[in-house]
Amino acid sequence: MSDRRFNRILLKLSGEVLMGGAAQGSGDPQDRGKGGGGEGGLAIDPAVTARVAQEIADVRAQGYQLCIVVGGGNIFRGLSAAAKGFERATADYMGMLATVMNALAVQNALEQIGVETRVQSAIPMAAVCEPFIRRRAERHLEKGRVVIFAAGVGSPFFTTDSGAALRAAEMKCDALFKGTSVDGVYDADPKQVATAKRYDTVTYDRVLADNLKVMDASAIALCRDNNIPIVVFNIREHGNFAAVLAGDGVSTIVKGES
Ligand code: UDP
Repeated sequence: MSDRRFNRILLKLSGEVLMGGAAQGSGDPQDRGKGGGGEGGLAIDPAVTARVAQEIADVRAQGYQLCIVVGGGNIFRGLSAAAKGFERATADYMGMLATVMNALAVQNALEQIGVETRVQSAIPMAAVCEPFIRRRAERHLEKGRVVIFAAGVGSPFFTTDSGAALRAAEMKCDALFKGTSVDGVYDADPKQVATAKRYDTVTYDRVLADNLKVMDASAIALCRDNNIPIVVFNIREHGNFAAVLAGDGVSTIVKGES
């Protein structure tokens, strides 16, 4: 495959994509069990996580170099906890710890199907995983391992979207793939507006100006400044990740003016 558009990619997985169907709802993990949680489904559903891992393994088998940044929103979100009285920085550190749990869950699911991985955390946790060391991550990728980055940027008041943009830039990734449970970026919320239109491509500046729900503004700006395209796609749809990488499949690409 010499005509590949991308060789090294960073996959951003929202914590939500690891949840069981019944557990998705309000988007606020602190609300689970109060309508958002339905049957009080699992924050990390092993079957769902295994399916996501299979999509990743299929792409890895095609020879792509893969970095992954996992979110923690299925377990804990600093901002919503702060709204309920938590001190913000403490809540954010709890959120970062949640991303480490998700990283281990993704590592476990990948290794169960024979994909070699390493987890590197922005908050050193020697007994659990490696600390983030860029050159070491580079070596893992060269050896064909999938590197899973946990704990975002390692500081409160950020999100794992910013962590994904930062790692994508540091690791010189050709693109940031945002795997979500929707199939792209719309000009309005498709759940509320029946006529909402999905973009095939949209510029960073349009996303920022119209406040389109892709990633937070600092992550978009970091990708724009480093010219890293963002590909938003549905990772829950079987075969879609590989299809989108091959230039088929349904997605929205966020990039600069062409
Ligand atoms: N977080 C943080 N700094 C970071 C990354 C994450 O403080 O660099 C905290 C923040 O509280 C956030 C939580 O970890 O709400 C979980 O991450 P995020 O909301 O980005 O997860 P996602 O929505 O992608 O599942």
